[in-house]
Amino acid sequence: MNLTTAKDTLKKYFGYDSFRPLQAEVIQRIYDNKDVILLMPTGGGKSICFQIPAVTMEGTCVVVSPLISLMKDQVEALRANGIKAAFINSSLTYKEQQEVENDLYHGRLDLVYTSPEKMASRDFFPLLKSAKISFFAIDEAHCISSWGHDFRPEYRQLRFLKKTFPDKPIIAVTATADKLTRKDIAVQLEISDQQMFIASFDRPNLSLEVRPGRKRIEQILEFIVERPNQSGIIYCLAKKTTENICGKLLENGIKADFYHAGLDSNQRSKVQEDFINDRTPIICATIAFGMGIDKSNVRWIIHYNLPKNIESYYQEIGRAGRDGADAATLLFYSGGDLMMLRDFIQQNDSKYREIHSAKLDRMYQYATSLICRRKILLNYFNETNFENCGNCDICNNPPKYLDGTVIAQKALSAVARLKEQVASGVVVDVLRGSKSYGILSKGYDKIKTYGAGKDIRQQDWFFYLEQLVNQGLFEIAYDDYNKVKLTEASKAVLFGQQKIQLVQAEMVEKRKKEEAEKADAKRRKTSVRQRVRDELFEHLRKLRLTLSREKGIPPYIVFSDATLEEMAAERPSTEADMFKISGVGEVKMQEYGHDFLRAIQSFLLEKKDQGVSVKGATYLETFRYYQQGYGVEEIASTRELSPNTIMSHFAYLYEKGENIDIKKFVNKEEIRKIAEVIGHLDEPFKLKEIFDALNEELNYGQIRLALSYLENRKYVRKDNVIDT
Ligand code: ADP
Ligand code: ZN
Repeated sequence: MNLTTAKDTLKKYFGYDSFRPLQAEVIQRIYDNKDVILLMPTGGGKSICFQIPAVTMEGTCVVVSPLISLMKDQVEALRANGIKAAFINSSLTYKEQQEVENDLYHGRLDLVYTSPEKMASRDFFPLLKSAKISFFAIDEAHCISSWGHDFRPEYRQLRFLKKTFPDKPIIAVTATADKLTRKDIAVQLEISDQQMFIASFDRPNLSLEVRPGRKRIEQILEFIVERPNQSGIIYCLAKKTTENICGKLLENGIKADFYHAGLDSNQRSKVQEDFINDRTPIICATIAFGMGIDKSNVRWIIHYNLPKNIESYYQEIGRAGRDGADAATLLFYSGGDLMMLRDFIQQNDSKYREIHSAKLDRMYQYATSLICRRKILLNYFNETNFENCGNCDICNNPPKYLDGTVIAQKALSAVARLKEQVASGVVVDVLRGSKSYGILSKGYDKIKTYGAGKDIRQQDWFFYLEQLVNQGLFEIAYDDYNKVKLTEASKAVLFGQQKIQLVQAEMVEKRKKEEAEKADAKRRKTSVRQRVRDELFEHLRKLRLTLSREKGIPPYIVFSDATLEEMAAERPSTEADMFKISGVGEVKMQEYGHDFLRAIQSFLLEKKDQGVSVKGATYLETFRYYQQGYGVEEIASTRELSPNTIMSHFAYLYEKGENIDIKKFVNKEEIRKIAEVIGHLDEPFKLKEIFDALNEELNYGQIRLALSYLENRKYVRKDNVIDT
């Protein structure tokens, strides 16, 4: 087995032209009968690494997968590409199970997915032994490790594989990167950790944005309204929050549902199914949602609350944009979230308390940091990276600094005079000279710093206090009503021995305004071309939905968003063009190719009829008349174009592979003459030279057609011709 076959198979079945980084290397290892541990981020393309060898090698690849929904999803996607795949798990009836086992025994499957329980069970073992197995793939391999976040004890039993099948390669894949887990996978499966392949964890198509968690609902509504028809997930920490937010969305006419562990399993699978099938575009969920699905067209992720660590955050945002098309992520954070998570760790995690606290701190630092977000993330995952990414909020709007010494002194002095006995809200009220009952009744208006920070808006004060906390000038006593306390570092600033820098606060507002203006300008500037492209995408998306309903499969399994986007941009008009689109393999070409070609054609013609000039439509219109039996002259006069132009359309269409009978316009003898003439011409030649050499017997249109014909027969290289 070699990589050329692998590459052909990739195009034939999946419609992709090339491998992503590491895919080819990993596949080669399996061909070489060697084990592999593969670490790749979610959406990186792990599955292809075992699916291609499974299709090309003799025998069946057995895939161990932790969740029934994942198995179903993958098998559905494989079958849609014409690959023989099935799963065996408890969701099947006895009879269905027997059928799959039969197929496995008789070698009729390229892949069979199953659970770790089934793998290790006594009744399955004889079949495993007698079937012809090509190799084993362990999906979500981190489940084998108690260090990982989804430990599944049954995975441990997979140790028997290496012992019982010493000559069958094992490929273990996961998106969990931490060192302990990796090592554990190697030990448990008895794979040498020399065989580890680690892909970059960068997901450049995900934009990263972080905002302070104020007026979150308002911000979320705005965010969603800007993204009509897109699928997205809003992650929350608490069950109640998911329900509340969902309610708010519904009130505002936005279709949404919620998902959390409090629902029974029927309800949960219904929510999941509706999401997968694009019936419900938006889900408000606790973190339990999303692990079991491969939906590739999730276009955005919002974190309503701060996640508990960077690993979870990265895994959750990773569920967006798996198809490689652009996707947006937005994280809200607040001190309140931080506190809640801290409490949670204190109460629950006796054993790993310190690790978990440290990880939570890193998460909070990420949220409040002011350098390129992606740089922080990649460095966290041990990928040294010094480049600014250009696709995060910080890169898009670099912060502006000011001398914040006086601001800091005012705040520090207020805290000192309040005897470190109040939370930040009161500190800000005092600084701003609030006349609220709470402040006056305690006599805080008598304090010297009362009103000293009137000139700074409330939200800006919060922004500054947060920065001061991050710079170590204050501490928040989470265990004592969040009172603001001074630190060792406070004194130097308070007594003027140290200057400090702050990020200018209006920036937050200004940034938002600037962004809105930019978006507006962009909208205004959006060319006709882009608008047509968006409309066509929408048109194709609807067709996809209809076809997927007919077939009873999720829309993204028909074609991914990325594939539709490419179609909308390229507007393929022939089978050959369509086959060039990434994601269009042979089976999908057969199943859906023509529906989409027709949809593109009719859309373009409709646009043309509306007077919008679109590239490609003019040829289509000529073709439409041609198909209706009109001749060159008739088409030319109807379309008010010259006959030569119409003939050049025919030439174009013919070159594109459309069924144009060239001999109708230029006969065999004439073509022969042209072939003879060009044989004598120096390359590159001009149409006019041919025209002259033939004593003006044939017109330009005929010459173009003849050249297309000859080119098709490889008599002449087209780039030799310079049009007159
Ligand atoms: P993972 O299992 O790592 O989360 P998948 O295997 O589901 O990722 O792949 C994510 C998406 O990328 C899928 O839509 C898949 O079809 C697509 N993909 C994988 N490999 C390629 C490739 N070589 N070219 C184009 N798309 C690819
Ligand atoms: Zn960046």
